[in-house]
Amino acid sequence: MTGICQDRVVVVTGAGRGLGREHALALAAEGARVVVNDLGDAARSVAEEIVAGGGAAVADLGDVSDWAYAESLVERAVAVFGTLDALVNNAGVNRDRMLVSMSEDEWDVVLKVDLKGHAAPLRHAVAYWRERSKQGRPVAARIVNTSSGAGLLGSVGQGNYGAAKAGIAALTVIAAAETARYGVTVNAIAPSARTPMTEAVAAFADRMRAPESGFDAMHPGNVSPLVVWLASADSGDVTGRVFEAEGGTIGVADGWRYGP
Ligand code: ADP
Repeated sequence: MTGICQDRVVVVTGAGRGLGREHALALAAEGARVVVNDLGDAARSVAEEIVAGGGAAVADLGDVSDWAYAESLVERAVAVFGTLDALVNNAGVNRDRMLVSMSEDEWDVVLKVDLKGHAAPLRHAVAYWRERSKQGRPVAARIVNTSSGAGLLGSVGQGNYGAAKAGIAALTVIAAAETARYGVTVNAIAPSARTPMTEAVAAFADRMRAPESGFDAMHPGNVSPLVVWLASADSGDVTGRVFEAEGGTIGVADGWRYGP
């Protein structure tokens, strides 16, 4: 059996748990060879899980917002698997606080990890693909970033996170325009956060949908197939787009108050 990412070499950042882990497993299930990044040992467990399932993966531990580490992460993919086809930028943190009480550290760490943590691996992956392109050996290169509904629509208590995620949306559009000449596409997903408020909105949205649709509102796994497709060679005509995956909640954001 061949998957839609058969043999493609994909780096997934922040893949030790949560959405990143889901993406890594889904990519491996479609045949990708995965470099699983995270800060700690969880990355090793995910890589082991993929290998135990018959897939190909290595773990690479480090902070993606460190410019030099980000370069070494790209180099590791090439050293281990011989090339790099796609980068899935997923690593992120949040320090939610109303702006009026936010500390400088809460601002700085979220902007650094979320925004610079996207820009640094992107920069080094693009440098690799530009070199490949110059050598006349281009690959169907893909970058998939992780923005958020918090950055596009706003989210109370997430001024730092929303600002970083809005920055990622801008980075996506700009990088797409700058890198098209090297055969690179750059897109983003924008999942919405699971908070008590969005849970209530999602529950309302669920009631508005036909039960037989089987849609499980905002389960993280729902968005991984989109990431897999964006990382595949098949998505070459799509670039510079931010795909909202908000569980069908847009347009019912106020309606949940009134019941179905
Ligand atoms: P989500 O629910 O969006 O998946 P998580 O917090 O579960 O969010 O996952 C984010 C992942 O990113 C975590 O595994 C976390 O360890 C990882 N991460 C956070 N900061 C960094 C960083 N600087 N470099 C690499 N990975 C990071």
